[in-house]
Amino acid sequence: MMRRLRLLLALLGTWPAAGPAAPPLPPMIDAHAHYTAADAAAFSPEAVLAKLDAAGVSRLVVTGSPPQLAQRLYRHAPDRVIPLLGVYAADLDKGNWLHDSGLPARAAAQLQRGTWVGIGELHLFARDAKQPVFEQLVRLAAARKLVVMIHGDAEVIDRAFDIAPDVRVLWAHLGTLPQPGLLADMLQRYPDTLWIDTSVRDERIAPDGTLLPAWRALFERHPERFVVAVDTFSVNRWQHYGEVAAQIRGWADALPQPLKDNLLHDNAARLFDRFQPPAAHP
Ligand SMILES: [Zn+2]
Repeated sequence: MMRRLRLLLALLGTWPAAGPAAPPLPPMIDAHAHYTAADAAAFSPEAVLAKLDAAGVSRLVVTGSPPQLAQRLYRHAPDRVIPLLGVYAADLDKGNWLHDSGLPARAAAQLQRGTWVGIGELHLFARDAKQPVFEQLVRLAAARKLVVMIHGDAEVIDRAFDIAPDVRVLWAHLGTLPQPGLLADMLQRYPDTLWIDTSVRDERIAPDGTLLPAWRALFERHPERFVVAVDTFSVNRWQHYGEVAAQIRGWADALPQPLKDNLLHDNAARLFDRFQPPAAHP
């Protein structure tokens, strides 16, 4: 009621517009997203962009399954979407892809047909770190200067850098089981090539919304290596996109500048903007 009155008076020019406008949200890049067939059935590219806008997310790093769905989003908003080549035809492939010897050749062919900035997300753990399919994908990424997004343990990250010391790796979910000491060791070992996303670990690192001191100390020690993300792993997660983004902003808000901007935006911008995406072959 009061708001309506104010608006009316402001329109009549008798009330200085109702107080200062809310300050704009700090810029944010969501560095880990999925867009599956089920997601696409629920949310058109327009609907996805509307969600980003409402959450103040300027750019989205997204992988599709099937992979072409990421290209559909990219073509809809090339300045907002950073497409990763998903190598799974469907979610079912999460456990089978390592044994599909035709996969690397298919991935290489797909990289020729579209604009891709990375490969992933690849799910694997120590016992499979030496699988040749993984090795070939890492080599492919390194040769094309693509980022590889990996959901796995430290052994897999070590293996990726054994295969290709210069490859850029985005390690998902704070290394799966988030341990600040382990991540500090890994960042010391790979200071220029390893980035780590915090997705789906917000409650672990900031229960009650406040970042735990060990995590804050790690972010302060490595201010350029961490990126934030929602990780839309399901239709339900897309439905709650705004809430998750707000939760991330909640714990990041207490950080000093420039660390806060680094985590929310600048680190991901540096990771993905240092590469010229390969020219599209329509
Ligand atoms: Zn994911």
